Amino acid sequence: MSRRILVIEDEPHMLDLIHTTLESAGFNVSGATTGADGLKRVRDELPDLVLLDVNLPDLTGFEVLEQIRAGIPIPVIMLTAQNSEEDRVRGLELGADDYLAKPFSHRELVSRIKAVLRRTEMPAPLARQVVEVDDELSVDLDRREVIVRGERVRLRPTEFKLLHHLMSHAGQILTHDALLSRVWGPEYRDDTQLLRLYVTYLRKKLERDPAHPRYIHNERGLGYRFLDFRAAETESPRGRIKYPD
Ligand code: CA
Repeated sequence: MSRRILVIEDEPHMLDLIHTTLESAGFNVSGATTGADGLKRVRDELPDLVLLDVNLPDLTGFEVLEQIRAGIPIPVIMLTAQNSEEDRVRGLELGADDYLAKPFSHRELVSRIKAVLRRTEMPAPLARQVVEVDDELSVDLDRREVIVRGERVRLRPTEFKLLHHLMSHAGQILTHDALLSRVWGPEYRDDTQLLRLYVTYLRKKLERDPAHPRYIHNERGLGYRFLDFRAAETESPRGRIKYPD
């Protein structure tokens, strides 16, 4: 499945250029010309990476970056003006994964994106390999297993991928469309039956009472929401594990 890149850039010429370059490099590209539209697309489309211009007509790129960082763990590359050291430093301080100074070559653009994707998709470091959701459920990201009330349960790759997406956005509603596109691919985006089936599989493996789920909540007509375990963790010292990107 090709990686999905969202480009937030208000200059049409630049947007076109980036779009063409990335598509010919095999990426799936969508574009937004304002910060507000960009943020909406981040939520709706859950791209694999965001290319974010610093100077936008409504919000600044930094404001957009802060809002992305507050919600969703998606890698971001900032597009900065040439010679603006200050912008680069600020972007990196706010959590951008990299920056590209304009003008940049096609090759540079593609290689930076590939590098960031590679880096952010690497396995989580040792200390973060097992994520404790609560006393009954842990997820071993490295082995792709869940530990349910002390028992290791192996997940099929698609089950794991679905769980991973739900958990990376714990507490947020993920629409049927977004989950299907991200886990199975855009051509499956209408297949809610398939999604429902896999949620049933996961609940059988995870939940104490699959009919009254604690972890994977149904948001009627919209999608699913995973238990916001990270919010609960901040109340106790034991669960300080940050869920990796
Ligand atoms: Ca601009």
